[in-house]
Amino acid sequence: MAADVLTEEDDPIAGPHACTRCSAESLLSVVGFCAACVADMGLRHPDEYQAFKTDVAKTYGRK
Ligand SMILES: [Zn+2]
Repeated sequence: MAADVLTEEDDPIAGPHACTRCSAESLLSVVGFCAACVADMGLRHPDEYQAFKTDVAKTYGRK
């Protein structure tokens, strides 16, 4: 059986998810944001991008 395969709840990157910022369905989602929003925040919304990076660090841990 595939008991040790990650479920969707365990792996938020797998599968399409609605972006929490623009509501677009995206295959690549990082802490709820699609790649377009990550790029947009990085380029035009430094405050949001800081919060995003803090969220990523909290979710995935600092290396
Ligand atoms: Zn988005």
